[in-house]
Amino acid sequence: MNNKNNILEQGATIGIIGAGQLGKMLALSAYQLGFKVAIFCPDKDGPAFDVTPLQFIASYDDKDSLKNFANHCDIITYEFENLPLNSIKFLEKIKPLAPSSFALSITQDRLKEKQFLASKNIKVAKYQRIENLTDLQKAKDNIGLPLVLKTTRMGYDGKGQRIIREEREIEKYFNQLSGSVLIAEQFIPFVREISIIIARNKRGQVREYDVSENLHENHILKTSIVPANISPLSAKKATRIAHEIVGALDYVGVMGIEFFVVNQDGDEILIVNEIAPRVHNSGHWTKAVCAINQFEQHIRAIANWPLGDPTRFADVRMENLLGKEIIDAHKKLQSGTNADFYGKTEIRSGRKMGHLNHIQFAKNNI
Ligand code: AMP
Repeated sequence: MNNKNNILEQGATIGIIGAGQLGKMLALSAYQLGFKVAIFCPDKDGPAFDVTPLQFIASYDDKDSLKNFANHCDIITYEFENLPLNSIKFLEKIKPLAPSSFALSITQDRLKEKQFLASKNIKVAKYQRIENLTDLQKAKDNIGLPLVLKTTRMGYDGKGQRIIREEREIEKYFNQLSGSVLIAEQFIPFVREISIIIARNKRGQVREYDVSENLHENHILKTSIVPANISPLSAKKATRIAHEIVGALDYVGVMGIEFFVVNQDGDEILIVNEIAPRVHNSGHWTKAVCAINQFEQHIRAIANWPLGDPTRFADVRMENLLGKEIIDAHKKLQSGTNADFYGKTEIRSGRKMGHLNHIQFAKNNI
């Protein structure tokens, strides 16, 4: 930070850990606001390296390289949560870091996250810590089947999780995931999944975007639709919960919060599934239909600049381009479709290669 008000000045260097598409879009927003960007990632092919000359390619455990990176930065942020906590704490001792290592410690661990939410009286699926097969048998008795068995850390896009529907699957799936601490969750019979993107800066200003409705394919986000098909009351509830979470974590930056919506006797009940301490795939629609999108908002938040107005000025449907869907996508663009292609060189099945925002332009709006 360059002055006593903790406001990052133009020309300062923002360090981003992770060189994926989120890092790339964050970097572009940072440049737009007059910053420089340094990126740290072990994968030299990360698409974010396309947009900055300040590149640090090393393992996330390499303390010398982390220190060298930190020395080039005025503030450090990250594009994903599956990072070694020790390395993040190490960086935080050298330079300001946002979101904090405390926020990361809670949100990178499914068990800690659920304990934190429950302590704030925020609804989560019933859960149990699993260290051995006996624990899992007990969870089956206490919670019932189906159960979702997940690794507490390093899971994303459905990786590191199994749905146990029958008694005979218990041992098989336990053996497949054991080796790290696990969590067993009640299977939630949701009617839809929604998320909210919220930002908070260091001076405590908070802004949230409209709730989006999310459709997954093979546990990977495929489509986000805004507005979500939920009641105004549920939208208010999601907003209130999101404010509580960022306040309780003294959070700085953009956060994505995913919810299950359950229909109970005609009422919509919201259950928090997951918190992401970063910009989120289900917030990519903000690039097309908000004056200040989630990436710019994150940079403004960590720089302690005034946050932008999150108002949405059109309905929109975000479509992820997974794997081979990226091939020739540019040839099929509709005129009202806004595209982001991430420039990843290797196509893999289910890999996020780009996204489209299909904007529903208001008619007769001349
Ligand atoms: P996650 O990695 O926890 O976000 O899970 C990925 C997807 O798996 C979610 O978006 C849901 O579609 C599904 N899922 C995860 N946990 C549960 C649960 N407890 N009950 C029902 N579906 C779940």
